[in-house]
Amino acid sequence: MATHSKALPDKRGRFGTYGGRYVPETIVSALDELTEAFAAIGRDRAFKAELAAHLKSFVGRPTPLYFAERLSQRVGGPEIWFKREDLNHTGAHKINNTVGQILLAQRMGKKRIIAETGAGQHGLATATVCARFGLDCVIYMGAEDIERQRPNVEKIRLLGAEVRPVRSGSQTLKDATSEAMRDWVTNVRSTFYIIGSAVGPHPYPLIVREFQRVIGRETLHETRRDWPALPAAIVACVGGGSNAIGIFYDFLKETEVELIGVEAGGHGVSSGAHAATLAKGKPGVLHGSLSYLVYDRDGQVMLPHSISAGLDYPGVGPEHSYLKDSGRVEYSHVTDREAYRSLELTCRFEGIIPALETAHAIAWVQKNRTRYQAADRIIVCLSGRGDKDMPIILTQRDGTKTS
Ligand SMILES: *Cc1c(COP(=O)(O)O)cnc(C)c1O
Repeated sequence: MATHSKALPDKRGRFGTYGGRYVPETIVSALDELTEAFAAIGRDRAFKAELAAHLKSFVGRPTPLYFAERLSQRVGGPEIWFKREDLNHTGAHKINNTVGQILLAQRMGKKRIIAETGAGQHGLATATVCARFGLDCVIYMGAEDIERQRPNVEKIRLLGAEVRPVRSGSQTLKDATSEAMRDWVTNVRSTFYIIGSAVGPHPYPLIVREFQRVIGRETLHETRRDWPALPAAIVACVGGGSNAIGIFYDFLKETEVELIGVEAGGHGVSSGAHAATLAKGKPGVLHGSLSYLVYDRDGQVMLPHSISAGLDYPGVGPEHSYLKDSGRVEYSHVTDREAYRSLELTCRFEGIIPALETAHAIAWVQKNRTRYQAADRIIVCLSGRGDKDMPIILTQRDGTKTS
């Protein structure tokens, strides 16, 4: 099994053959400028101290590592522990990255922020930091998603950002991302584009990974300090892959720790209604980089499906494609129904309402419990809380199907 080289991505932004930059000529210099600015803050102690202070007082870090004791007993396998990213300000891990990127934007002298959002969580995290730091903010969102995610849209507006509906294509995340890219091409001098997951052209997958690494760094520190041994496994859900790469990265070199990424199996990976990119896809180019992608029967990029809006994306970050091929991370998938059942169980046995995205990771542990001993400890990245999912949760409880 290949271990991960510290040097990845390489100078061209490649993780093996994946990643890179497949972009219009007009933004190449902006990506170069961003690469340089990001390298500079890596050497800048004042920046690191400022980021750490905001993560502590504004975001609420460090987040606890929590033993889900009653859930573990009920599942009847290994000890299940949660890394509580749901306790962050705005309710998920996304804010780790938006705080980092807005500080970078400030350093670069940018006055205007744009972002894409699907479920609205990244839009909310971006509007939040724009309010906090006083920058203009435009959020691109598919018209269909605006209808499905009303509460987040209202929150984004309340925070002073503009929501721009995107009516092209399927009117969802993929189209919102394309539209945000178009805006960036036009306004590249004044504008900083905050990408919400470990996707996009180089250096975005690197930047997002580095800002989300705080999850794994804290986890490794805490387990080394307080546990008799490192965890048997770490499990995280994978949409674009930012919470997963964030918690995995510092454990890549700890080869006795299994790393498991869980994708959205939707109605089942043979149904054509899923978002299991790594399980069912093949390499292709989307949103500026080369990575696994799922296609429909006509060879078009598939309109994916998941019960959780945050996993409903036909691509995946290029580093995950690399880690799949290298074998260091195992990628799997669970269905909508399995995820929903785990969500209910976590509510009843822990008093925690997890996000539907997160419930995929919990469901994987449930399904694979016999792989582990009772004394083994498994850490689930509890990427976010489920309050935002109440409308969908209610349709499940009523027994009606989600489409
Ligand atoms: C957005 C989101 C995800 C999926 O995004 P990744 O980039 O794959 O982490 C997972 N969980 C929650 C709670 C989210 O909001």
